[in-house]
Amino acid sequence: MSVLVYTENWKGSFRKSTFEAVSYANETAKLLGTDVIALSFGEVSDDELAKLGNYGVNKVFSASGINKGDSQATSSFFAEYATDAKIIIFASTYTSKMIAPRLAARLKIGMVSNVISIPLSMSPITVSRKAFSGKAIEKAIIKTKKGIICLGPNAFGLLETGEGDCIIEKLNLAENGNITIEGEEITNGKISLAEAEIIVSAGRGLKAPENWGMIEELADLLGAATACSKPVADIGWRPHGEHVGQTGKAVAPNLYIAIGISGAIQHLAGVNSSKVMVAINTDPEAPFFKAADYGIIGDAFQVVPKLIEEIKNAKN
Ligand code: FAD
Repeated sequence: MSVLVYTENWKGSFRKSTFEAVSYANETAKLLGTDVIALSFGEVSDDELAKLGNYGVNKVFSASGINKGDSQATSSFFAEYATDAKIIIFASTYTSKMIAPRLAARLKIGMVSNVISIPLSMSPITVSRKAFSGKAIEKAIIKTKKGIICLGPNAFGLLETGEGDCIIEKLNLAENGNITIEGEEITNGKISLAEAEIIVSAGRGLKAPENWGMIEELADLLGAATACSKPVADIGWRPHGEHVGQTGKAVAPNLYIAIGISGAIQHLAGVNSSKVMVAINTDPEAPFFKAADYGIIGDAFQVVPKLIEEIKNAKN
């Protein structure tokens, strides 16, 4: 009985969310006293695959010739490798969200999404998950003996084991599957929202798209990604890829700075898993101040340049 983890790559490189899923798999495997087996789709170099060993993978099957976007082919292939797995783990990515439910249906086993804890029990498999747009935490029980766990974004963190040894087995699945999907990730900033530790986000309080220069400068200084509220993306001030909230991306950075954003419930639904939230708003009654850990009542056009100046001074 192993723990199987899907190790997604982007153009041959693993990202933080993959290493997070592996760290989670490793902690789960420790509870079961078993090994962590990984499954990877697409061309990935041996050096990159070996990195999985640093987070606890004992063996990785690296299948080239199969497109990760073809969820029918990947879930059917996955099912063949899942026969020995007690628990199968996925990160919080769009590809995982395509493969995991199909795999659950093929294997006729239970699946829980948005998970934020390692299993509280193995029999039955029981985990904590976020519910109602992050407003509640529920205990979910998988009734089947085996189960699939999909993590919430940034829910677990990275745990390097430093052990390093990982057996690599290459599988060449020439012409497997019927669909080829070529994806380009559209990101405006240099850092992807899903992976960002810090996000600088702005709303309609910024008044016009040409005022985003200071937001980008602040983000650059902090090594942060940029985000925005829904109306800002709807009116074309910022790209739709930056829209966060209930109908946009759900994010969970260590620090979320909301500038000129009112804090409507639909916005908070996508950001309230952030570890620390800071709101900057002229209106002391803005709902964001009730959710934020720190608040600055003030005009963004005065506060943000001062912040930039202070950060530059601190860096010097
Ligand atoms: P506003 O509500 O206009 O707020 C602007 C804020 O800026 C105000 O609080 C104001 O006091 C402040 N301000 C003004 N000038 C300054 C200044 N100079 N300095 C500092 N502060 C200033 N919204 C999302 O964001 N994400 C979603 O996913 C989402 N999904 C939705 C789904 C549904 C079904 C519905 C009905 C709505 C959804 N919305 C979503 C919209 C949401 O309800 C709000 O309308 C939206 O979040 C408001 O955006 P905003 O805060 O940028 O703008």
